[in-house]
Amino acid sequence: MGITKLIILGLLIWLGFRVYRIIQRRHTMKTPAATKQIRGNLVQCNACGVHLPKETAITENGLFYCPPENSDCNH
Ligand SMILES: [Zn+2]
Repeated sequence: MGITKLIILGLLIWLGFRVYRIIQRRHTMKTPAATKQIRGNLVQCNACGVHLPKETAITENGLFYCPPENSDCNH
């Protein structure tokens, strides 16, 4: 095998390694964004301190409380 063939072979391996690293980096960069969950605003119940989505909470005198079906809340 000539020296030029060895250089070409080495260059191809290096190029393949570079491409592999770029693909791997892109994959790891995508993962946190995909797993990131966008949740609604959380509010704290004034009676029991439980955090719950603002949409499910009931508002009384400007304070947030658990919905009546929540048996754990003594409100
Ligand atoms: Zn509560």
